[in-house]
This record gives sequence, structure tokens and C-alpha cells, in this order.
Amino acid sequence: NASKIQELEKLSLVGELAAGIAHEIRNPLTSVTGFAQMIKELSNDETIDNYIEIILNELNQINTIVNQFMFISKPKENMETRNTDMKALVSQVIEFMKPQTNLKGLNFIKFISSDSIFTAHCDPNQITQVIMNLIQNAIEATTDSTQKIVVSLKNTNENSLLIEITDKGCGISQERQKRLFEPFYTTKEKGTGLGLMMCKRIIENHDGTIEFNSQLGKGTTVRIILPKFSNHR
Ligand code: ADP
Ligand code: MG
Repeated sequence: NASKIQELEKLSLVGELAAGIAHEIRNPLTSVTGFAQMIKELSNDETIDNYIEIILNELNQINTIVNQFMFISKPKENMETRNTDMKALVSQVIEFMKPQTNLKGLNFIKFISSDSIFTAHCDPNQITQVIMNLIQNAIEATTDSTQKIVVSLKNTNENSLLIEITDKGCGISQERQKRLFEPFYTTKEKGTGLGLMMCKRIIENHDGTIEFNSQLGKGTTVRIILPKFSNHR
């Protein structure tokens, strides 16, 4: 239908722009970051240290945006797929996100999974990016530090896996749920609005699906169905 076509046009336009911009920005960004770090090491002035810290934080923000652009523009042919132990992958992401949860005083991220082995033929780096982004969103949505975030991994059938990330955070109204995957849609002061768009791209490139189930004020569950194999990979 018309809105689907419009959405695709918008996506491919953003993708083309992204490819160009991301490549141009990446090298100077790496260089500027390197020199800022050198100044930080050389300095023994508290004021300069504070300023450099701000510069490094802002550079980090630019770096996040550029990386997300790179993912969006990365064509499907560049996927590097291999047989991946999904249980190990998810645990590793959770481990990696721990400092973030500690920072917010959140209790922990709980990982539920049975003893079975979950192997999927996928691009582990891309799937890691997806799960990291979704957990990051869950952390950002949670303000009550007694609430935990639950990540679960199951077999839906022989051919696909179900990954669910549940938070008891602010939730999303029906109206806003329609816009989640739009590029640059964000409700955060420092958000890029590119995270979910990237997640959707990656999951669709894996012939999977991603959907939100959310209630305002109650929390959110993101469901990903990931085929273990696909003809396109
Ligand atoms: P960003 O995180 O940079 O804002 P995303 O694409 O990751 O961009 O998310 C887009 C928007 O979707 C967020 O700004 C937020 O409003 C909403 N959102 C995503 N995940 C959640 C969640 N778990 N709970 C509540 N709102 C969410
Ligand atoms: Mg995000």
C-alpha cells in the first residue's frame, strides 16, 4: 500500500545518505578522538580535564550515530553469517550491559533460557547490535530501580527462535507505537531515533520479525522471531 511504499522510499533515501555521510565522517572522527585522548593524557589541569571529558562524551555520541548509519547502509550482501550459539551471544550482551544497569541503580537483567542448545545461522555482530539496542532502550525506559529487565530465549519450533526483552518501564502509547521504526523518531533528549530502524533492518535481513507489545505506564515487550536458517543466507 501507499504508506508502505512511502516508508520504503524514506528508508532507501536515508540509507543512501547514511552511506555517504558515515564514511566521510568516520576517519576525521577517529583522528579527533585520538588527539582529544592525547590531550587528556598530557594535561594536569583540572579545568582542561573537565572540558576534554565533555568533548570525549560528545564525540562518543557522534560515534554512536555514525555507527548506526553504517549499519543502516550496510547492504545485505555484507552480512557475515555463521553458526552462532545464541545463548552465549545473549549472555555476553547482558554481561556487556551490566555497567549501564549498575549506573542506573537497576537491580539486574534476568536471563531465562532452557538447557537446550540454540544455534542460529546469523551475523553475530549484527544480532549483538540488535539485542544491545533493545536492552539499552529497556534500561532507558525503566525509572523504578526495583524493576528488572527480563530477556528470554526459546525455540518456537524446529526452525526458529524467539527472543523476548521485557521491561516494566514507561511503556509506549498506541499512537507512538506506530512510529517506532521511523528514522529519527525519538522521545529522548539525546536519542538518535535510529536504533529501532537499524534493529528492524537487521532482523528483516535475517528473514525474521520484530514486534512491540506495550502498555503506557506498564511496560514493554519486544518479540523477535529469528529463523535458524534461511534461503537468503
Ligand atoms: P532512541 O533510543 O535513540 O530514542 P530508538 O529507535 O532506539 O531511538 O527508539 C525510538 C523511540 O521508541 C524511543 O525514543 C522511545 O520513545 C521508544 N522506545 C523504544 N523502546 C522503548 C521501551 N522499551 N520502552 C519505552 N519506549 C521505548
Ligand atoms: Mg535506542
